[in-house]
Amino acid sequence: MKKIIVTVDGLSSAGKSTLAKALAKKLGYVYVDSGAMYRAITLYFLRNHVEWNDKKKLQNAIKEIQLDFRVNDRTGASEIHLNDENVEYLIRDLIIAEKVSEIAAIKEVRAFAVTQQHKFGAKKGIVMDGRDIGTVVFPNAELKIYMIADSAVRVERRFKELYEKNPNITIEEVRNNIEMRDYMDSHREVSPLKKAADAIELDNTNLTEAEQLQKSLALAKQRIGG
Ligand code: C5P
Repeated sequence: MKKIIVTVDGLSSAGKSTLAKALAKKLGYVYVDSGAMYRAITLYFLRNHVEWNDKKKLQNAIKEIQLDFRVNDRTGASEIHLNDENVEYLIRDLIIAEKVSEIAAIKEVRAFAVTQQHKFGAKKGIVMDGRDIGTVVFPNAELKIYMIADSAVRVERRFKELYEKNPNITIEEVRNNIEMRDYMDSHREVSPLKKAADAIELDNTNLTEAEQLQKSLALAKQRIGG
């Protein structure tokens, strides 16, 4: 059967990864969380005190980074590895979220990530979520979804997720982080977040996960045909 590329872009905590994972599972496709790549690069930079404003140091640091996704045998989830270390849990920290948009705005960082993303998509049969996947990474993708949701709903979702790990976290911290990232991701010079002209907007403020999956699956099946 024909295989397609599905891109899922949108603002922070709009529910992209939940939908992209479920859709990939239903289609039997590979799921790639491109945000995890930028988060893992940020983790590497912070841990190694990389002075990323110094071009030479930045380039040398990028050369030391190897990223790959491996399926967890127990849960079936795809998890990011940074130089062979599973960092899936560590990269979800607010400390990473505070810096990731600054790192993701660096041209060299994006070139490194996008080269890998192209390799992941070379055989199609992939669902990738992020900010620039439908506009820059796979502009010819057969199905592009652009997710939106009310800001209060997005803050609440991310707060619940982070609170489970850190009960000291406040809703204000989460709101500030989301607002800051949305602003930086939408206003950067290189590959800013924007809706691709041919993307289908999915507002999930009042939709259940099952409803979102049903709508997206129908769109994917149309594109796959047969
Ligand atoms: O998707 P997630 O919220 O984990 O992404 C973390 C950050 O990575 C985003 O706020 C953005 O700065 C960056 N990102 C990006 N391009 C992508 C995916 C994520 O710039 N394709």
